[in-house]
Amino acid sequence: MRARCFSCRPKCRTPRNDPPAASASSSERRRNPTELDGFSWYCDNCGNRLFLERVPVANIETELPAIFSRFYSSIEHRTCSACGTVMAAPA
Ligand SMILES: [Zn+2]
Repeated sequence: MRARCFSCRPKCRTPRNDPPAASASSSERRRNPTELDGFSWYCDNCGNRLFLERVPVANIETELPAIFSRFYSSIEHRTCSACGTVMAAPA
């Protein structure tokens, strides 16, 4: 399974939920290992947030596969509560 940094995917960025000003200020901030990093998935259809998981930055590398697995293994997590669109799991 390919582990990709989800926040690097242009697809998950929605102008409504991720204003440029907010993302710029958070990326400039110095991070420490006890800080929590958030992984979120957004609906392809309407941009509603499907799922959010927060983990300590220090554990990102080891936690990443588990986070992806938790998200994709659950149809509830992948179903948009706003419009009902179900995000397809990767093949
Ligand atoms: Zn939706």
